[in-house]
Amino acid sequence: MVDLRTPAEIEEMRPAGAFVADVLRTVSAAADVGVDLLDLDALATEMIRDRGATSCYVDYHPSFGAMPFGKVICTSVNDAVLHGLPRSYRLADGDLLSLDFAVSVDGWVADAAVSLVVGTPRAEDLRLIESTRRALEAGIAQARPGNRMGDVSAAIGAVAREEGLKVNLQFGGHGVGRTMHEDPHVPNDGRAGKGMRLQPGLVIAIEPWFLHTTDELVMDADGWTLRSADGSRGAHSEHTVAITEAGPLVLTAPAGSPGPIDQA
Ligand code: MG
Repeated sequence: MVDLRTPAEIEEMRPAGAFVADVLRTVSAAADVGVDLLDLDALATEMIRDRGATSCYVDYHPSFGAMPFGKVICTSVNDAVLHGLPRSYRLADGDLLSLDFAVSVDGWVADAAVSLVVGTPRAEDLRLIESTRRALEAGIAQARPGNRMGDVSAAIGAVAREEGLKVNLQFGGHGVGRTMHEDPHVPNDGRAGKGMRLQPGLVIAIEPWFLHTTDELVMDADGWTLRSADGSRGAHSEHTVAITEAGPLVLTAPAGSPGPIDQA
């Protein structure tokens, strides 16, 4: 079932979005060569406590996870691309780190992800990250009343194809509201003009994640971290977006960025 939010409810979701953006900015800035992934999780944990927010991850235990997640942020490094369970690992020069973070503030959830390189980047990694960012922007631009879900999906998939990157359709975006994963599913590829019609009040996480050379994943021995089947690297960009009469409103946009994108 798809829940539509009133304009007042979307306003109530703004603090959650702003806090997620703040945590991702802070943790990204702390991520550097020699920093342990557990220290990044501890930093996010401290921010959650100070804000009085509630982690969506710590007790999260879906059918595809071996045990409750137990940490508050996903830290996926290099060939790990999704659900990276923080472990004691010191980031090395050139590592590609994806951070995915969701919390509830005042009863509303926001969910976002960023990828970055610590130390000296490889050009191909920067291009991979930039491709997911561009796909996210392209998907957001289609998230407006009157369009269909397939328009969002097709816009994302088109960027991957242009760049010769691989898209796995097993995991994609999703509705966001009182809980982290709600209907509808937002596939990272699809056909324009198909799927559900997008209406004002729909709030979705749009989250392109691409791999260099495979669309297959394997589960790490930790029971959570998903890695590319061939060892190639992945990147991930995500925002929580409210569809409003005025266009897409990016709830997890960094502070100071513009409101609804008005393309009229
Ligand atoms: Mg997420």
